[in-house]
Amino acid sequence: MFISLTYPLAEDTPTFGKNPKVKFDPVRRTANGDVNNVTMCHLMTHHGTHMDAPFHFNPDGITIDQLSLDDCIFTRPKLIDVSNRHKNIIDRSDIEPSFTKDDNSDLLLVYSGASLQRESNPDYYMLHYSPFTVEAARFIIEETRLRGLAMDFGCVDLATDIFAGRSPVHNILLGRKEVSSRGIPLIEDVNMFPLLGKEIKRVFSMPLPLKDLDGSPVNIFAEVE
Ligand SMILES: [Zn+2]
Repeated sequence: MFISLTYPLAEDTPTFGKNPKVKFDPVRRTANGDVNNVTMCHLMTHHGTHMDAPFHFNPDGITIDQLSLDDCIFTRPKLIDVSNRHKNIIDRSDIEPSFTKDDNSDLLLVYSGASLQRESNPDYYMLHYSPFTVEAARFIIEETRLRGLAMDFGCVDLATDIFAGRSPVHNILLGRKEVSSRGIPLIEDVNMFPLLGKEIKRVFSMPLPLKDLDGSPVNIFAEVE
């Protein structure tokens, strides 16, 4: 059975900081006597459930259209539920116990519980999630074979760091050469509620091949037992 992990994209999709909102402008409408219904979508590459390509924070990183289909299909996914941790960060110690020495998971899905606020309090959800620490990012890049990281919140760095022009966690996860040996795509604002308690067989995260760009909304879905 396949289940969707994608939030619908809508004009009320939560956005980060002062980023513009999603906007759908009708181009033609049958209700107005037009021959068909056609819509202009004003979308950011990071609106809603989406994938960050390494190029997002890494000028040498690959762009979203350079990801292969194999890069977007994960056959050994691992979900961890850190929703009852006691800190408002996700640290190495929240992740490491789920990995054995020869662990060959290819996608880590992190459920933090932040998404419980997404519908009722979207502004809070976009700013007051639990970011990953630099140590957590280093563990993922240097000590696992993960080739993707998905989460139930919208940004891997602390929001105030991004507003101040800092992005230490993105820089490591997306492979900036000064601080990191490799970059992996990030899948943000993922709806993990349908996955909780299920055995996950495969995950598919499908971006649009937007030429030379930094990310794309995705349709992400999982095959479960
Ligand atoms: Zn993003």
